[in-house]
Amino acid sequence: MTPSETERPLTSPWHRLALDITPDGRALIDGQRVEAQAGEVFECRSPIDGRLLAQVSRGRAADIDLAVAVARRSFDSGIWARQPPAVRKRVLQRFAELILQNKEELALLETLDMGKPIQFSLDADVPGAARCIAWYAEAIDKVYDEIAPTPANALALIQREPVGVVGAIVPWNYPMLMSAWKIGPALATGNSLVLKPSEKSPLTAMRLAELALQAGLPEGVFSVVPGHGHEAGEALALHMDVDALGFTGSTRVGRKMLEYAGRSNLKRVFNELGGKSAFIVFEDFDDLDRAAQAVAGAVFYNQGESCNAPTRLLVHESIADAVVAAVVGQTTRFQPGDPLSPRTQMGALVDEAQMNNVLGYIDSGRQQGADCVVGGQRARQESGGYYVEPTIFDRVRNDMKIAQEEIFGPVLSVIRFKTEEEAVALANDSAYGLQASVWTQHLDRAHRVARELKAGTVHVNQYDEDDITVPFGGVKQSGNGRDKSLHALDKYTDLKTTWIRLAR
Ligand code: NAD
Repeated sequence: MTPSETERPLTSPWHRLALDITPDGRALIDGQRVEAQAGEVFECRSPIDGRLLAQVSRGRAADIDLAVAVARRSFDSGIWARQPPAVRKRVLQRFAELILQNKEELALLETLDMGKPIQFSLDADVPGAARCIAWYAEAIDKVYDEIAPTPANALALIQREPVGVVGAIVPWNYPMLMSAWKIGPALATGNSLVLKPSEKSPLTAMRLAELALQAGLPEGVFSVVPGHGHEAGEALALHMDVDALGFTGSTRVGRKMLEYAGRSNLKRVFNELGGKSAFIVFEDFDDLDRAAQAVAGAVFYNQGESCNAPTRLLVHESIADAVVAAVVGQTTRFQPGDPLSPRTQMGALVDEAQMNNVLGYIDSGRQQGADCVVGGQRARQESGGYYVEPTIFDRVRNDMKIAQEEIFGPVLSVIRFKTEEEAVALANDSAYGLQASVWTQHLDRAHRVARELKAGTVHVNQYDEDDITVPFGGVKQSGNGRDKSLHALDKYTDLKTTWIRLAR
């Protein structure tokens, strides 16, 4: 117990529940909770106040070998892969129902593990994960195969087949959602899956696998091996018997995934990587408060730890002062608070190292001459946790480090432009291409600029629309994969053609 733990006022029922919860940090392999084979563990501490949450199994190559062997065995047996889609559908529907039935526990685990406000875990992450699983469950018995338009003496069937054993490696910022985006389509299509959650937020992934078992998923079809990236993660990505790898994480590690595939069995790699998205406000847009509210909401949500956060605000110089003032005004809503309080809008960064990264970027912004107009400091230090104020830099140049690199914290860079051409050039002057947003009253400008922007998703006059029905992913160094929507099924299936001679 940290000193702050004993002194913490129990201001919401969540505090009491948080004191009682005892998360199980063991891996889940072949339907059983197990220790790592070497018996090693690592500490999982809450960024809220530094409290110890669990000792987590430190998976290494031997544990990955076991999980992959079990996955292969379950796949080859056909116990899941050869079930009719309607049967897989029912199991996954039940899995989604169980996620909702356990939403308080899952939300609390998610918040304690990575620091986001409890109300967001409860209202967004848990229902989002359940909806994702339910959506793929509903979809899978409505996906048809194809017959090619061949000459009359032949028949060519083009069928989707599961790839086999899927490896999934996910980050810490949305542990449940990022896991669900892999689990849903990979299991619906009949694969067996080995998931490695981030060592910074491993707890909900193991609970999800338990709920999947409870829903009737056969043992061995879905295992979770927690561990460090360079140990369990590398072993999974290098494994000769993993057929496809769904990776969500940084561009730096995504690069390694492609190397691992090249060094092993050329497994298919689908990378969902970082971003530095541009939010462009033109001088003709007439509701600057709405634009300010949208950019603040998107950039400070989840403590700024969102791949698609619009961290570069590009504003026409004629309205820049007014927009900056309005966004600064919004920061009062996002002052860091206790993540277990239902009123808190911004919680703790995931750990001390991430907080120090963010503070380092803030220093670099100051040193390179950007104007820090609000925030810029660590907050709530007395809590024993890792909090940073919502921070805005004005008069940023696009070649500064804070404009080019992904900070992954609550930091917004404002860049002023003079012309539409300059705005598009600045937006595209980035290694990343995940999302972008255009704010204008003119339909032709909206279409013209949206077409010019190099990004997987472009928003017009809003930023918060999102749904499981649309693909999520980027271009350039934001990756190549697409999570969500029916397009995600392509990652976890191969197309097989069967030619049949039709004799007269
Ligand atoms: P990260 O790349 O450091 O880690 C991601 C995962 O990879 C973790 O599970 C980690 O243990 C593992 N890993 C690390 N090194 C590894 C190695 N050498 N071999 C195998 N596995 C390894 O990313 P992070 O810090 O956990 O997450 C933040 C990043 O994720 C940001 O860049 C963010 O933009 C990105 N992200 C992207 C999306 C998207 O859909 N595009 C969504 C969420 C997060």
